Amino acid sequence: MLFKIRGMKTILAIAFFLCSLSTIAKSQSNATAPQLSVHWEELTAADFREGIHRSQGTCVLPFGILEKHGPHLPLGTDLFNARYAALHAAEKEYALVFPEYYFGQIGEARHEPGTIAYSHDLQLALLQETTDEMARNGCKKIIIVNGHGGNEWMLRYFAQTQLEKPHDYVVYLFDKRSPDKGGPPKKSSITNWHAGEDETAKMMIARPDTVHMDRAATESGADQHRQNLADDVYTGIWWYARWPGHYSGEGAVATEELGQFQMDWWVNAVADVIRAVKADDVSLELQNEFYEKSRHPLETQP
Ligand SMILES: [Zn+2]
Repeated sequence: MLFKIRGMKTILAIAFFLCSLSTIAKSQSNATAPQLSVHWEELTAADFREGIHRSQGTCVLPFGILEKHGPHLPLGTDLFNARYAALHAAEKEYALVFPEYYFGQIGEARHEPGTIAYSHDLQLALLQETTDEMARNGCKKIIIVNGHGGNEWMLRYFAQTQLEKPHDYVVYLFDKRSPDKGGPPKKSSITNWHAGEDETAKMMIARPDTVHMDRAATESGADQHRQNLADDVYTGIWWYARWPGHYSGEGAVATEELGQFQMDWWVNAVADVIRAVKADDVSLELQNEFYEKSRHPLETQP
């Protein structure tokens, strides 16, 4: 009898042990896929492989610059804002986000302290090698999220140069930082371009610790109109002619409320772009068709 009771106890203990084992196993199998950082540089090599799989080869390259931003914002403003938008977007719609990249076009600010202006051939070569290397590691869809107005033409030109020779990946450019309308009414009385109301407001969300609102009105952000040319005549010195102090707007009127509205818009817009790019099977197919046809143009029929 004593043996029987002991035996029962043992059986119950084993049953309880097996039960708890299966509960643990169940809770593990029920758990969603393990959290993966969207930061390229934070992943282990094995997790990187999983990240490429999970993102369907979709990677984001937030692109900034080091340049004066009025008297009140840090040199890295454009990269801080672009990375904030890209990282939060990638958390909504998984994509891998490349580390800090600020090797763009900023020749027009070389007279200001802290500007890093690489030569134009290096800018393009470095960007090409960066996207080539990203693609070699599985990023077959690369979305450049541009944070700096001065990169505008350089990045479009870079995208066009992808037609020079075959690539097994597509470069997508998203170059919009503020919504066209909506949100709290704007208070600016002058151009709201560089370190102005919008950009300052976004920095109040992305990196409030680096914003010096008390200095925002210590310089003028007004257009100096120092060139007497029609709008459709372009010169490389145009920006310096109009805003030599790299301040185009009124940072002092910016509010956190506007910043939150604009950042939410930017994050959602980038997430939508990531989603659309993941679904895009046409661009690479067309690129390949184009590369093939461009090898024998005389055979191309209308
Ligand atoms: Zn900027």
